[in-house]
Amino acid sequence: MKKHKLLIGGEWVDPQSGDWFESVNPFTAAPWALIPRGSKPDIDRAVAAARTAFYRSDWRGLTATARGAMLRRLADLIAAEAGRLSEIESTDNGKLIAEMRSQLNYIPQWFNYFGGLADKIEGRVIPIDKPGVFNFTREEPLGVIAAITPWNSPLMLAAWKLAPALAAGNTVVWKPSEFSSVSALVFGELFESAGFPPGVVNIVTGYGSEVGEPLITHPHVAKVAFTGGDKTGEHVYQLAAKGIKKITLELGGKSANIVFDDANLDDAVKGVVSGIFAATGQTCIAGSRALIQRSIHDQFIDRLLDLAKTARMGNPLDASTQVGPVTTRPQYEKVLDYIRIAKDEGAECRLGGAPATRPECGTGWFVEPTIFAGVKPEMRIAQEEVFGPVLSVIPFDDEDEAVRIANDTIYGLAAGVWTTSIRRALSMSERLEAGTVWINTYRAVSYMSPFGGYKRSGIGRENGMEAIREYLQTKSVWIDIAGNVPNPFVMR
Ligand code: NAD
Repeated sequence: MKKHKLLIGGEWVDPQSGDWFESVNPFTAAPWALIPRGSKPDIDRAVAAARTAFYRSDWRGLTATARGAMLRRLADLIAAEAGRLSEIESTDNGKLIAEMRSQLNYIPQWFNYFGGLADKIEGRVIPIDKPGVFNFTREEPLGVIAAITPWNSPLMLAAWKLAPALAAGNTVVWKPSEFSSVSALVFGELFESAGFPPGVVNIVTGYGSEVGEPLITHPHVAKVAFTGGDKTGEHVYQLAAKGIKKITLELGGKSANIVFDDANLDDAVKGVVSGIFAATGQTCIAGSRALIQRSIHDQFIDRLLDLAKTARMGNPLDASTQVGPVTTRPQYEKVLDYIRIAKDEGAECRLGGAPATRPECGTGWFVEPTIFAGVKPEMRIAQEEVFGPVLSVIPFDDEDEAVRIANDTIYGLAAGVWTTSIRRALSMSERLEAGTVWINTYRAVSYMSPFGGYKRSGIGRENGMEAIREYLQTKSVWIDIAGNVPNPFVMR
């Protein structure tokens, strides 16, 4: 098993603890790599390296155009390594090789787009209301950014933070999930090759309490960019608040995929299946509640079952597999717990509802694609994030009821609407309380389009022009051009 190292100040180093922990392949349930167990002394060194790099002329003194070119060089290196990195991700977190390949082939676009934006960060000249004064704004980087990422799309969700943070001129200490750190550490090799000075990006692996907390609370960290569960997010927010730190939180969801009776049902069935069973339901945007108009409810469920039953489970490294394992043992147990809860609550299990024991699932943590019908909006299975291949089907009568049920959750990450009515599509896109609304499609994301949560699904936006502002602060500069100092006892 390869024993990995931390990236601090441009050097690959052992953790101060002298400890490593195993990263486990979810398909075999066997360890396959050793991850450094970082702790506070490593964070102290990494933040110091990032802070030094932030002020050093080989980063701070770069023109924005040169900085952008560095990001685009990184994009080319990622593209060249996409095959290797996607195999590592698939082995480490059990997500389908087909999905990880498409993510890795897409990730360079984040560095191209934000690399392109680097020299388009402009201030403004304000036609100020006071005579004899010139006033303008500068958009400046924040300093050291703490990037904390989850296990489900390790590199893609890191790219959403690193690309805008670096384009804006910040430096970064990145803590990947303890369940999926290998790809981050291999990715770390590319920064030096792309020409980033040492310390601009540092990677410290380990557990949330041992690495995440000292990182968030470090006095020299200016901002926390976090993706993870909402309970962790709440804790992270509290820790960051003590230091009055800037924050973005990308948290969980309980997204509704709403099918009206005027929809193209072939498309809608595929959309609902892709919303929940793709990625084994382990995406923040999982369409885990299917709201189906009552007039088509029964026939829609039949069609859903027909398609979901055909899902091929198995080795995520096999390109024909459609549903892979659950990534971690605790997550596997959590999913099975929710299945028990749903049954106890009286939901009707129409498909799956158990661990998958098919021979092609080997020794991995597999759960059968599961569909519950007769789910009531107030049931826990309809309110809480499962983060697994478990769908709750809820009937509704009309648009008002669909909106009421869809919005009746603490989350607001995404929603899908299936309809052929343009009036309904526009009206629903306005009425749904979600950061992303998809009409007649699902699970589409882009580096160009803002992504983030309403309500408890998060704070701030990643991707698109909005994202770079999350890594900048505005300075207002006043210059006297009149050449006389007015009455010093009166505000100018
Ligand atoms: P998690 O909250 O358990 O962990 C996320 C990260 O936070 C990990 O790196 C973890 O080590 C770290 N962490 C844990 N405790 C911490 C602490 N006390 N202080 C600092 N850091 C700590 O989430 P997960 O299980 O890895 O990922 C699944 C969750 O992420 C789901 O809820 C999912 O919805 C959410 N998610 C959200 C998005 C989004 O963009 N909105 C995307 C993907 C996943």
